[in-house]
Amino acid sequence: MRRERQGCLIPAVTAPRTIVIAGAGIGGLTAALALAARGVRVLICEKAARLEEAGAGLQLSPNATRILIGLGLQPRLAPHVTTPASVSIMTARSGGEVIRLPLGSPDSHAPYWLVHRADLQSALLGAVTAHPDIELRLGCPVESLRATPAGITVNGEPALALIGADGAWSFVRRQLFPETQPHFSGLIAWRGTLETSRLERTLIPQGVQLWMGPKAHLVVYPVSSGERINMVAIMPGAAMQPGGSDAGDASEIRRHFAASRWPANARAMIESIDNWRRWPLLTMPDGGMWHEGSVALLGDAAHAMLPFAAQGAGMAIEDAAVLAECLRPVGDDAAAIAPALARYATLRQPRVTLIQRTARQSGQIYHLHGPMALARDLTMRALGAGRLQARQDWIYNWRL
Ligand SMILES: Cc1cc2nc3c(=O)[nH]c(=O)nc-3n(C[C@H](O)[C@H](O)[C@H](O)COP(=O)(O)OP(=O)(O)OC[C@H]3O[C@@H](n4cnc5c(N)ncnc54)[C@H](O)[C@@H]3O)c2cc1C
Repeated sequence: MRRERQGCLIPAVTAPRTIVIAGAGIGGLTAALALAARGVRVLICEKAARLEEAGAGLQLSPNATRILIGLGLQPRLAPHVTTPASVSIMTARSGGEVIRLPLGSPDSHAPYWLVHRADLQSALLGAVTAHPDIELRLGCPVESLRATPAGITVNGEPALALIGADGAWSFVRRQLFPETQPHFSGLIAWRGTLETSRLERTLIPQGVQLWMGPKAHLVVYPVSSGERINMVAIMPGAAMQPGGSDAGDASEIRRHFAASRWPANARAMIESIDNWRRWPLLTMPDGGMWHEGSVALLGDAAHAMLPFAAQGAGMAIEDAAVLAECLRPVGDDAAAIAPALARYATLRQPRVTLIQRTARQSGQIYHLHGPMALARDLTMRALGAGRLQARQDWIYNWRL
């Protein structure tokens, strides 16, 4: 049987035990691998006819890399990832470093990875297409779902359950909970990459660099095993068309990162990028519903969040692992699905809500200006690297 196919005009081949996943993003692909590793047959329906190399860099902390390694992905990812030793927190006030935090913790026993989203997606895709119990259908949007006594029908085909991993503008969420939808945060993420050799040598970051500035921040780190530099600049902006990104006008970002507010080294990095793309930053209200009957949401479909804790994909990966563990004992028993999905939501929601709040607070702290920015920088130095690093332990040391 072919494992990857185009379009949905095909006979109903879904085995009764099949779990359907809507969306082949990081969340959907990881969930497919985690479920298949527990003996579940999976069908992934992906709207796009081709999986694009969308996005740019991602930071994956040990809570997420531990799961990916457990799924056997390390050999596929190792040639592409960078493992930074530290994050340098820089301030636009002086152009200097406030503090340097070691990344990862000795207790986490898993690496901190910097990776291009395209490399992560193709590693996941390689593992998915090689798995005999996973079928991927491209160009196959989930367009209808109907509850039945034996589970659910998805696009008219029977399935045991449906997992909506179809992103922030989730179709599945709109069917289940139309009243709870993502909203625009007022912030735009500008993302771009360039070849490392094209960046002035003194500007090349060794690990992650986080620049805090007035109403904006900038994150810079190497990806593609150090061959490219990834930059993400966050600043206020107008709402954009829902559902994607667009090419950014470099003059707009250069104006925002003006000499009056930003030091020459940060501006030189901004000016080195000529392929900026803009993403509107969306957030889902905290603590919404994630499941109903035989349907559950996962990843951005459940909890799109500000990226300031660098945990959106990390939470999707954790969701996938917990979901698979909750569904493991269910077997073919359709009646056991709804309680298993309820358990998944109960296990995940408190942690994800805390991460969503942490991300919001981080943004507020990064964007302070005037005397408040000075107070922030002094407080960070007074707390010291050890205490600041320990504040991440509850995120990084999480285990299934
Ligand atoms: C600027 C920025 C920086 C970020 N940095 C980090 C970081 O450093 N670390 C981190 O962990 N996270 C980060 N994130 C967050 C991370 O990118 C997302 O949380 C993650 O990619 C979400 O994955 P997902 O699979 O849930 O959704 P998506 O990646 O959106 O995938 C959804 C998929 O569903 C498909 N789809 C949509 N509708 C349908 C349908 N009806 N039927 C079938 N398929 C459908 C889509 O085509 C898509 O392929 C960042 C985000 C941004 C914007």
